[in-house]
Amino acid sequence: MVDDLIMHIADEALAGRAPERADVVRLLQLDPYSVESAYICARARELGMRACAGRGYVYAQIGVDSNPCPENCRFCSFAAVNCSKRTSEAGPSEVPIGRIVHYAKLFADEGVGLVSLMATVGLDFERYLNMVRAVRASVPDSLTIMANCGDLSAEQARALKSAGANAAYHALRLGEGTITDIDPVQRKLTFRHLRLAGIPLMTGVEPVWRDADVDELADRICEIAELEPFAMGACNLTPVSDADVGGRQPALNGFVRLVAAIARLTCGEAAPIGGIGGVAWVDAGCDPRERGYGADDATLRNKIAAAKRRLALDGFSV
Ligand code: SF4
Repeated sequence: MVDDLIMHIADEALAGRAPERADVVRLLQLDPYSVESAYICARARELGMRACAGRGYVYAQIGVDSNPCPENCRFCSFAAVNCSKRTSEAGPSEVPIGRIVHYAKLFADEGVGLVSLMATVGLDFERYLNMVRAVRASVPDSLTIMANCGDLSAEQARALKSAGANAAYHALRLGEGTITDIDPVQRKLTFRHLRLAGIPLMTGVEPVWRDADVDELADRICEIAELEPFAMGACNLTPVSDADVGGRQPALNGFVRLVAAIARLTCGEAAPIGGIGGVAWVDAGCDPRERGYGADDATLRNKIAAAKRRLALDGFSV
């Protein structure tokens, strides 16, 4: 028996009436492989396709350093607590600026629309700014440079903008302050500082794990619209070797898909991109989640071509 109320919540969202928080909680309690969840995802896709006008995007990320990070997000390979377990490993902790610029130019040549420069908090901020400046000076204005670094003061956000960053990824993660050493208040302040600096935001509900607290998930989902991001989504917990994440397990893929769909229904068309797919990532440089990033040019070009094909097969124009 299909639950009419669930259908009604989804239909209302499509008509521009976003679900209330209580409804978000209700949706999060669905079996992710039920008929109702399938309906939620289908309606979210309809809404999301309207928001992005059917357009898909290939984005790239360059991990610029692998310094031990004092923020200690336990799920991250670069958290200082995790690095200390691998003292035998040696290697460069920073990708040379010339190499970062090389990757960025390759991505621009291949038609990628956005390059994220991902840094640990162990990287000196001035050095990070130099990386942003070097990339900005080497790629066309049409390529968005997205900063993905630590929390920012108002002054640092302005400096990032002056250096050439014209987007930022920032999120108040699940378990912030518990599974990380980051003060949630600082995360929220950074949202404000980015807005004041005029830097467009990408955000996400992450990392989602099995049996994550539904109230916390609902809070994160319901906050998205007021942050007015240009892109948003949801991301699973990626286990990295030697990390102690307090027994947390990655969520079922179907649940992460459901979370992303609920996020889309809740923020309506306020965020043009994401929540239903539509973005395919290609990664280079340092890899904080041990996913296996590309290094050589041919591999990266092949990955970009494959990403475009995936988007097209998923019904997006690229
Ligand atoms: S996720 Fe980012 S802030 Fe957290 S430990 Fe890793 S590099 Fe540092």
